[in-house]
Amino acid sequence: MLNLEKSSQAFAQAKEVMPGGVNSPVRSFARVKCDPPFIAKASGSKIYDIDGNEYIDYVGSWGPMIVGHAHPNVVKAIQEATTRGTSYGAPTLLETQLAKKVIELMPSIEKIRMVNSGTEATMSALRVARGYTGRDKIVKFIGCYHGHADSLLVKAGSGAATFGQPDSPGVTKGTAKDTITVPYNDIEAFVNLMNEQGDEIAAVIVEPVAGNMGLVLPKQGFLSTLRKETEKHGTVLIFDEVMCGFRVALNGAQAAYGIRPDLTCLGKIIGGGLPVAAYGGKREIMDCVSPKGPVYQAGTLSGNPLAMTAGIATLDIISADPAWGKADYTRELSIKTKHVLQGFAKAAKDAGVKVQLHQAGSMFGVFFNENDVYDYATSESSDQEAFGVWFMSMLEQGIYLAPSQFETLFMSGAHSDDDIVKTIDAAEVAMKKVAE
Ligand code: PLP
Repeated sequence: MLNLEKSSQAFAQAKEVMPGGVNSPVRSFARVKCDPPFIAKASGSKIYDIDGNEYIDYVGSWGPMIVGHAHPNVVKAIQEATTRGTSYGAPTLLETQLAKKVIELMPSIEKIRMVNSGTEATMSALRVARGYTGRDKIVKFIGCYHGHADSLLVKAGSGAATFGQPDSPGVTKGTAKDTITVPYNDIEAFVNLMNEQGDEIAAVIVEPVAGNMGLVLPKQGFLSTLRKETEKHGTVLIFDEVMCGFRVALNGAQAAYGIRPDLTCLGKIIGGGLPVAAYGGKREIMDCVSPKGPVYQAGTLSGNPLAMTAGIATLDIISADPAWGKADYTRELSIKTKHVLQGFAKAAKDAGVKVQLHQAGSMFGVFFNENDVYDYATSESSDQEAFGVWFMSMLEQGIYLAPSQFETLFMSGAHSDDDIVKTIDAAEVAMKKVAE
């Protein structure tokens, strides 16, 4: 049995001073009925808790840690940057360097604005889209999470779904009424909506690969229909690549699926584990942003030098790491991810457990479901009790997975062949437990 005695004590104390004991809801492990391990340190593919347990980590801080924890290049760059001061609130060369790097990797982005969180990126992108079009309404897809801005906290998957509160109290009816929701992958419903209201809609925002109702892939024709219909109605198409950017492919889901959005939101990997996110896209739209244009958006710590440094170091590694001997780091991660899923598939088959295994680049997920999962309703129809048994058994065997079936798992460059063998061995035990 896993000993989490110190973590449980720490959690009890944390609950005295913070709502639910955490600073972000899913960290509380509430859905899987276990106290969360309190993490003391992380290195490479591993995290270590204050009870002395070691885990192979497939959460990766919910996505950013694509090169593994405490990668020497990233640590060295941050250490050196720290000696030059931690924040200036004034322009630096680093901001232009990271901006250029991102623009080089994602050609749909002609101009970019750095912010501090994915929430800020999507919230600001919507404001610009509204300012640019002069329209109020937006469309989002059920089960897509775009952060916790009021207008986006409607049928939002992920943590909200985990806690059974898809619509949060505190979001006013007035705000929610301008957010129209459509089931993910429902091409017909979307086309009908655009036929009826397209000319009043400022923006359509979508996770091109959805990672917040578990991992759900876009059906063929879904993203291209979004592009075609938004173009027809002068609506801004926003790809929220906060999670899937640099992961589904180095150049994002937009490259993998061959669609050019008007605006893109980025986060997680772009900050290499420090708080950075960004929104960017067509020059004509981005030039509406203050001080060039009238749409106001600002941030005391935006473009922070330490955060820019961590982002540059991380993007440098994944876009050309000589240690890998080839440019496409992300493709190597996809191959490793595929091996893990092949192991999970065999473990499930041998145990007689029905699963749906999904992969997009280095993102992956397991649904305990005998039917296809392609939207929020089908995701929710999965066996969450089975998920709980699977999760606990993996944790007890030192494999750290996200504590909710509405989340996605992430592979990093630091995961070794040995880690993968251990993960698959653990999956064999866990699947048998699920079958019991
Ligand atoms: N957009 C997507 C697709 C996300 O997955 C997330 C967070 O998980 C966000 C936006 C919000 O980002 P943040 O948590 O940095 O505010």
